[in-house]
Amino acid sequence: MNKKVSKKDIAQLLKTWSQQFNVLAPSRDSGVAAMAEWDGKDTSFLDWYRNTVVPPKASFLPPMEAMFRFRKDEEGYQIEPPAKNGQKQLLFGIRPCDARAMAILDMTFEDAYKDPYYLEKRKKAVLVGLGCTNPCESCFCTSMGTSPTDPTNVDLMLIDIGDHFFIEEVTAKGKELIAKTSGLKEATKNDEAEAEKARETAYNKVSRKLDTEGIKDNLLESFDDEDFWEKVAAKCISCGICTLLCPTCYCFDINDELVKGEGTRFRSWDSCGFSLYTKMPMENPRQEKWRRVRQKVCHKYEFYPMAFDVIACTGCGRCIRLCPVNWDITQVIESVPARVKGAK
Ligand code: SF4
Ligand code: SF4
Repeated sequence: MNKKVSKKDIAQLLKTWSQQFNVLAPSRDSGVAAMAEWDGKDTSFLDWYRNTVVPPKASFLPPMEAMFRFRKDEEGYQIEPPAKNGQKQLLFGIRPCDARAMAILDMTFEDAYKDPYYLEKRKKAVLVGLGCTNPCESCFCTSMGTSPTDPTNVDLMLIDIGDHFFIEEVTAKGKELIAKTSGLKEATKNDEAEAEKARETAYNKVSRKLDTEGIKDNLLESFDDEDFWEKVAAKCISCGICTLLCPTCYCFDINDELVKGEGTRFRSWDSCGFSLYTKMPMENPRQEKWRRVRQKVCHKYEFYPMAFDVIACTGCGRCIRLCPVNWDITQVIESVPARVKGAK
C-alpha cells in the first residue's frame, strides 16, 4: 500500500531522515539554487523550487574534490587517501530529469574503469524524487525518455496531490526507508487517482518537443560538414556554462597543489567547450570553436548512444535557460541535415 505525507509534516519527515542520512534539499543560500545540506527547519523550497541551477551531480562529482594527499621523503612519494566520509546522502526533491542524468553518469563511472570517488558516494545515496508541477518553457524531458513524474531512477517518488504528497515506493532501498519511517499515512484509492491526474497534467505541461529519430546517424554523416558546425557555433562565446551545469557532463581536470614536497591532488570540473581542454604539447585538435561545439553536441547525441545506447541529454533545459547568448540545443538538433535515408 502506498503512503502519503502531509505538506506541513515535511520538516518532521526530513528531521527523521536526518538521523540516518546527511539530508540535502533545494536551497538558494549559496546565491543559486542547488542541493545543499538541509538546515533542519526550512521547507520554503516547496513554494519556489522548479529545478536547481547546479545539477545534483555535484553531490557525487563535486566541482572540486581532493583525491589524495602526497608527501615526498627519502623513500619516494607517500600517498595518503582522503578520509572516508561514512555518511550516506539523501537527496530530497531531485527532479526525474536529473535522476535520469545520474543513471546516465553511472554508465561512465561504472564502465571499464570504476571510479571509486563517485561510486562510493553514489551507491550509498538515497534519491527521493519530487515530481514537477511547473516545468519551464525550456524543458523537453518528455522527448528524452522521461517525464516530470517519472519514478524510474529514484528510490521514492513524491507527487503533489494538494495538501499531501503521494509517496510512490520504487526500489527496495526506498521501501525499506518507508518501512522504518513512522508518521506516514496510508494513501487511499482517491489519492492514487489524484496522483494519476497530477502525472497527466504535468506531462501535458511540457510543451517543448524534440524529434531525435535518426539523430545519431545524421550527426555521424554531418561530422565533417564544417560550414554547418561553423553556423551552429557562431554565437557561442565558449563560457562553458552549458557543460559545467549540464547534469550529464562529467569532464574533469586533475591538478596537484604542491608546497615544499607535499601536497594534494585535486580534480575539478572542466569543459570540452574550453580551448585549453584539449591542448597538448604539440597541438590542439579542438583549437577552433566549431570543433568544440561539435564535440559537445556529438558526445551527447552520437557518441553516448554508440557507447551506451542512450542519448546523454535528459531535456532538463538548463543549457537553454542559462546560456548568455541563447544558444539552444533543441534548435541545433533540429537543424542537423537529414542525410541518412529513413532518419530524420
Ligand atoms: S552556455 Fe552558451 S555561450 Fe556558453 S559555452 Fe554553452 S553555448 Fe556557448
Ligand atoms: S544538454 Fe542541456 S538539456 Fe540536455 S541534459 Fe544537458 S543541460 Fe540538460
